[in-house]
Amino acid sequence: MQVQARTVVNAAALHACSVARGIQGLPAEHVPREHFAKGSYYTLAGKAPFTRLVYPAPQGAWLGVHLTLDLGGQAKFGPDLEWLNVATPDAIDYTVDPKRADAFYEAVRRYWPALPDGALQPSYSGVRPKIYGPGEAAPDFRIDGPAVHGVPGLVNLFGIESPGLTSAMAIGEYVSQIDV
Ligand SMILES: Cc1cc2nc3c(=O)[nH]c(=O)nc-3n(C[C@H](O)[C@H](O)[C@H](O)COP(=O)(O)OP(=O)(O)OC[C@H]3O[C@@H](n4cnc5c(N)ncnc54)[C@H](O)[C@@H]3O)c2cc1C
Repeated sequence: MQVQARTVVNAAALHACSVARGIQGLPAEHVPREHFAKGSYYTLAGKAPFTRLVYPAPQGAWLGVHLTLDLGGQAKFGPDLEWLNVATPDAIDYTVDPKRADAFYEAVRRYWPALPDGALQPSYSGVRPKIYGPGEAAPDFRIDGPAVHGVPGLVNLFGIESPGLTSAMAIGEYVSQIDV
């Protein structure tokens, strides 16, 4: 299918690089290589002894296995970081692997040594659209307008991972001010 538009904002997250590769006239060097990094969560069976969120000191490419409480007081731990060996987002398996629990116990017991055995249950997962690979330095979000790639009317957003949600309004304002 071919679509023509005067203005295009490519904010397709996991699919952004693939969408960009389909844009006529966009030079290939302006499309970063995508990497996918899965983050799984485990919930705590029973009541958590915490009333606030707990964030360990960040390690490398992500914030670490932190504790979040939902509005009902249910505690969840995560996400972890698992680099996926897939070429396209369609090949992603979102199942939370129960084998990852051992690493969760270890990570959570760094700040909650009394975490009981068997208290963690696999919950859900999400996947980060990264534009850098394992061991590479994390770049900032990439928001490319015509001044960067030379294609009138086009804005590409790449690598919008955490804190992309928190930053959504600021990103929207920034994009709306780009001279297309
Ligand atoms: C495990 C994990 C933990 C996170 N934790 C946090 C956090 O604590 N705080 C925070 O701020 N952020 C966090 N984030 C990041 C945040 O979730 C994302 O940055 C944010 O959701 C990205 O929003 P988006 O609109 O760019 O992408 P998405 O919400 O993925 O939206 C992309 C949209 O593009 C559409 N699309 C894709 N391909 C096409 C196509 N070809 N044509 C048309 N439409 C298409 C999709 O259907 C989708 O609607 C986390 C992410 C993960 C994975």
